[in-house]
Amino acid sequence: MALVKDYAIILSTRPFGESDKIVRFFTMSAGKLTGIAKGAKKSQKRFMNTLEPFNQVRIEYFEKATSTMVRVENADLEESNGGLEVNLKRICVASFFTEFVDKLTKEKQKNEHLFDTLKMILKSLKTIEFTVTDILYYELQMLEHLGYMPNLASCVHCGKDLADMEKLYFSRERGGTLCSGCCRSVPHRQYPQGFIPRMLTLDGRSIAESAKGFERLGTEILEDFVSFHLAVELKSYRLLKRVTG
Ligand SMILES: [Zn+2]
Repeated sequence: MALVKDYAIILSTRPFGESDKIVRFFTMSAGKLTGIAKGAKKSQKRFMNTLEPFNQVRIEYFEKATSTMVRVENADLEESNGGLEVNLKRICVASFFTEFVDKLTKEKQKNEHLFDTLKMILKSLKTIEFTVTDILYYELQMLEHLGYMPNLASCVHCGKDLADMEKLYFSRERGGTLCSGCCRSVPHRQYPQGFIPRMLTLDGRSIAESAKGFERLGTEILEDFVSFHLAVELKSYRLLKRVTG
């Protein structure tokens, strides 16, 4: 039973028994893990408040042969969550992305790109306000790292390249765009001209505040896609929509 040292982002914690805490954290080298931190609840000294959601830490843990749960030995703060508490919106955005990672990854599934993206989101959130477009941009990036990116480049039914064609039809069942021929036989939703190409070239910084219609549709299309394909409902999502609406 060797001591493992890694970088981690704390996803969530809950008290366990008299004095312990159960901690879920996403590591750079081993993906998501659940661990027990002995004495973390009773004696704050032991972990010096490092095991708090959204903190980035250097963690040390022991793997147990008999259990999927690890034993957290030590955690040193790398980047604190300080700055997120200034308003509800920042906390909601942080909760949304940590829940996204928690729900859409399996235990011990390494994903360094996803780790880097979550790390960057939590760091930027401390100093800037995210627009809905920023949220959509990072959500698409995470879906791509998870291998769930919707296909917005060709027809998901016949495979025709849609590069020079109007992209108006989206099938959530098939997970992407349809050509004008296939949309006659495959269930889909139709979106306004220019909307799908814009989703493809999302860049948080280039879209003006006035693009509320785009943001509403973008939120809808991803919400529909994620809930259909990944069969998860994110608790933090409703609150996020309320504070960004
Ligand atoms: Zn087609």
